[in-house]
Amino acid sequence: MGRGMLQSVVIVGAGQAGAEAAMALRQFKFAGEIRLIGREASVPYERPPLSKGFLTGDVAAERLCFRTADAYARANIELILGREVRALDPAERRVLLDDGYAVTFDACILATGSAARRLDLPGAELANIFVLRTIEDAKQLRRGLVPGCRLAVIGGGYLGLEAAASARKLGASVTVIEALPSLLSRSASPLTADALCRLHRRSGIEVLLGEAVKGFSGELSVESVMLASGRAVAADLVLVAAGGVAETALAQDAGIDCANGILTDSDGRTNIDGIYAVGDCANAAQHTGGPHRRLESVQCAVQQARRAAAAVLGLPRPAPKVPYFWSEQFGLKLQIAGLVEPGVSTRDEVVGDLDGDFAVYRFSEDVLLAVEAFNRPRDFIQAQQRIGMRDAALPAA
Ligand code: FAD
Repeated sequence: MGRGMLQSVVIVGAGQAGAEAAMALRQFKFAGEIRLIGREASVPYERPPLSKGFLTGDVAAERLCFRTADAYARANIELILGREVRALDPAERRVLLDDGYAVTFDACILATGSAARRLDLPGAELANIFVLRTIEDAKQLRRGLVPGCRLAVIGGGYLGLEAAASARKLGASVTVIEALPSLLSRSASPLTADALCRLHRRSGIEVLLGEAVKGFSGELSVESVMLASGRAVAADLVLVAAGGVAETALAQDAGIDCANGILTDSDGRTNIDGIYAVGDCANAAQHTGGPHRRLESVQCAVQQARRAAAAVLGLPRPAPKVPYFWSEQFGLKLQIAGLVEPGVSTRDEVVGDLDGDFAVYRFSEDVLLAVEAFNRPRDFIQAQQRIGMRDAALPAA
């Protein structure tokens, strides 16, 4: 779409990707109308602290917002908050809000994010069973995290492990329940996953592996988590951290192709002209021509938002970056660059001490595909630049 005909852009979803897309359009000198519509009442904020510093009380709510409401006003971006988009009409080029209001557009960027997966199991409706996606979820969970309380975390992914570490810091007694035989099985090397498992156990967290949850028991409030093995884990609070599901309902109802997210090309274009999707909700083709990929990470949301903003305006796209993800547990930082596609076998080499600071270098046919650095920022920065290279040298231990 040429810049000349474009007068208004509507962005649906005012999270990390939506806010970035709005700002990028202005940075790229788009002078038309930008409306950023979000279901949550808050000015766009970052989610990573919700399982880390915000949950422990170390980071205040005001520090979560990327920018003040004033900054959006100064950039002439209209924030429409606390409003849900109920329908997208591609033929009429408009979205309909929950208050009946219609907003027209020349281009629309869907940045609807993902929702926490909920478990459809007996007892799932009991009180004190939480998910963690929004600031309101984090506040609710935090209220229950008093010293001595028993928290069961279902899911040994990053979010679950971070929340477990934060709850431990607050004095909770924590059990992590993972159905697969190891933690982080989809997103880290076995070496890093096992190292984190040992770290959690050393820190007093009970980690149960290969244990499927079959339901919850309790009167009004949850009292225990029932496992398929027959064991019951006593709990005052439960956090379901079983991954995210892309928010695609709006797109699907509008006839946009979806499969594990809204399908897009590497510029965020959907199959309907003038409609783009970015961030957690998008399952995007890679610029290298590799398979579609849906990544839930801040860096991916920011990159996709900036690329789509450039594509909407017909400008050259910003250069793609190597995928990056970080996590923080017990005040220690894990940084990951690069990706290992499912099914690819790797040779993983360790530098450092797996029970201290370490980096895992993941090679396939001598090409460095990914690095995972735990509390080794210097090694991380060096390795990040060598992703994709053959025979990348490892630093001295
Ligand atoms: P979101 O930030 O989820 O924003 C989507 C917004 O769209 C939401 O506010 C939603 O309410 C709104 N919306 C949806 N549908 C509609 C509609 N119909 N109408 C109006 N509004 C709508 N990533 C990292 O890289 N590192 C981390 O350490 C890390 N930690 C995390 C910790 C937690 C607790 C969580 C939840 C996520 C974490 N992530 C982390 C992931 C990262 O936050 C997400 O990848 C990122 O927020 C994605 O941005 P997004 O804009 O696509 O989605």
